[in-house]
Amino acid sequence: MMLRKKILVVEDNMINREMLCEILDPMYEVLEAENGQEALEILGRYKEEISLILLDIIMPVMDGYTFLSHMKADPNYSPIPVIVTTQSDTEADEVAALSHGATDFVSKPYKPQIILHRVASIIHLRETAAVMHRVQYDRLTGLYSKEFFYHSANEILRKNPDREYDLICSDIENFKLVNDIYGMPAGDRLLCKVADVYKEFVGEAGICGHLNADQFVCLIERHHRDYTDEFFIRVNEQIRALTDMKNLVMNWGLYQVKDRSLLVEQMFDRALMAARSIWGQYGKHFVVFDDEMHNKLVREQAITDEMEQALEEEQFEVYLQPQYNIKKNCLSGAEALIRWIHPERGFQSPGEFIPLFEKNGFITKLDQFVWQRACAILHEWDQAGYPDIPISVNVSRADIYNVDLPDILMETTKRFHVPPQKLHLELTESAYTENPNQIIENVALLRKLGFLFEMDDFGSGYSSLNMLNNLPIDVLKLDMEFIRNETAKTATTGILYYVIQMAHSMDLHVVAEGVETKEQLERLASIDCDYVQGYYFARPMPYKEFCDFVKNLKK
Ligand code: C2E
Ligand code: CA
Ligand code: CA
Repeated sequence: MMLRKKILVVEDNMINREMLCEILDPMYEVLEAENGQEALEILGRYKEEISLILLDIIMPVMDGYTFLSHMKADPNYSPIPVIVTTQSDTEADEVAALSHGATDFVSKPYKPQIILHRVASIIHLRETAAVMHRVQYDRLTGLYSKEFFYHSANEILRKNPDREYDLICSDIENFKLVNDIYGMPAGDRLLCKVADVYKEFVGEAGICGHLNADQFVCLIERHHRDYTDEFFIRVNEQIRALTDMKNLVMNWGLYQVKDRSLLVEQMFDRALMAARSIWGQYGKHFVVFDDEMHNKLVREQAITDEMEQALEEEQFEVYLQPQYNIKKNCLSGAEALIRWIHPERGFQSPGEFIPLFEKNGFITKLDQFVWQRACAILHEWDQAGYPDIPISVNVSRADIYNVDLPDILMETTKRFHVPPQKLHLELTESAYTENPNQIIENVALLRKLGFLFEMDDFGSGYSSLNMLNNLPIDVLKLDMEFIRNETAKTATTGILYYVIQMAHSMDLHVVAEGVETKEQLERLASIDCDYVQGYYFARPMPYKEFCDFVKNLKK
């Protein structure tokens, strides 16, 4: 059975009350009160469950107008629509009812069809408005929702072409960690405090929105305040004090609205880019989007526009960097590293485009290209009878979450008749610490299929030696910076020796990356490191050059 909506009838005259009940009863559940006082009690009991109130004016104990002023003063009840029943249909009565906050009025004697229609349409109107309200305002913080903020901000800019505005946004460093450590309710309380702070500093000079998770934004008239580092440091302190989260870091970015052809969505991206640029920087919490950032965006856009075509036109080339077995003093493998040789801009460093491809998803396609190329090379070497070495390829963290990854890798190796053991997969250390369980599962599955796993960049992040015990890996690749720092220390002070010992005790081979000097090499040899890769031996080089290089080694 459908739940009937509740209507409260407030009327002292019993005959009138019964008439109204009879009209409404089949459609609605009717609650009755004989005066304003009783009506307030019923309201307290049922609250917003009541869809509408039909209210007489002249009643003993508490009259209709007094009741209206009580209920309209309470934000819990004020949205409930009220239809006043007037004795006559004089204009004065009607105006009086409306001015006291009634939604509408009907005059006595009652006309059943008119009452039913009015009641139905007013209830419908109010429910629609309630839904709209929920869509427009963020449930948690009461600020504008994302869609409504974008819509309103675009409107404000359109209607006020002569006024100057700033778009300010903020995000919290490691907000996910806040939720993990303090729990979701504390995370929610924090977001409400942030919203309060926004409301306070924006005031009447603009609008604020809660976009998602820890991201907030406001559009505010310029020169409303002086925005300085100190101002935002104080704001951050205020939030830390309110929430008791002492290590909380919130970064603020400001975009000065100049180019009105941009959508507010794009302006937000710019403000956020500014805010993100100071992640992890001690003592700096506020940045204005500037020309340098703008140029970076333009460059990134150019790369994004060109990448697909570049792949088709074979502007990407796989370079190989040799790896050596220190003990046997021979070539032991190679790492495949991508290069972009652009027809106009020339040689592009992966340091610039890889992070962007990881952001926009293109890395998945590019990595597959590298794996194919690596397998094609392995196949050629197999046909030629040498060199008999594996190739290590990089697997980005986006790849490892792809459920099709095992199929893709199996298909690629099969197509080129390459045994999976010949293709080593390098996954960066930080990927293992981000989502250990899922990564471990996927990596374990690929190892069952025969692929070997190398943990790349070990020593650059936070993984502990303890953790290595539980990880399904075959090779530990020590990060270049780590090698540089450790080999600069005296033999007795560093931890390099212990790391290598520990790795060996877990049956892991160790590759040292970025070896540039003889001293570094000798040190690594003296503490039993297995393999090295670095400029001291050779830089990454094109395929042809690598083949010549191998031929020379054989001589
Ligand atoms: P990585 O995987 O840690 O690669 C090692 C980087 O160190 C390479 O930089 C290599 O050229 C450089 N290197 C090797 N020996 C030395 C040395 O002795 N001294 C110095 N200073 N550097 C040395 P590269 O090729 O610029 O690549 C940078 C990063 O880009 C790579 O770091 C990797 O994370 C990423 N990358 C490169 N190619 C690919 C790819 O095909 N797929 C994915 N997903 N990432 C790639
Ligand atoms: Ca690598
Ligand atoms: Ca590395």
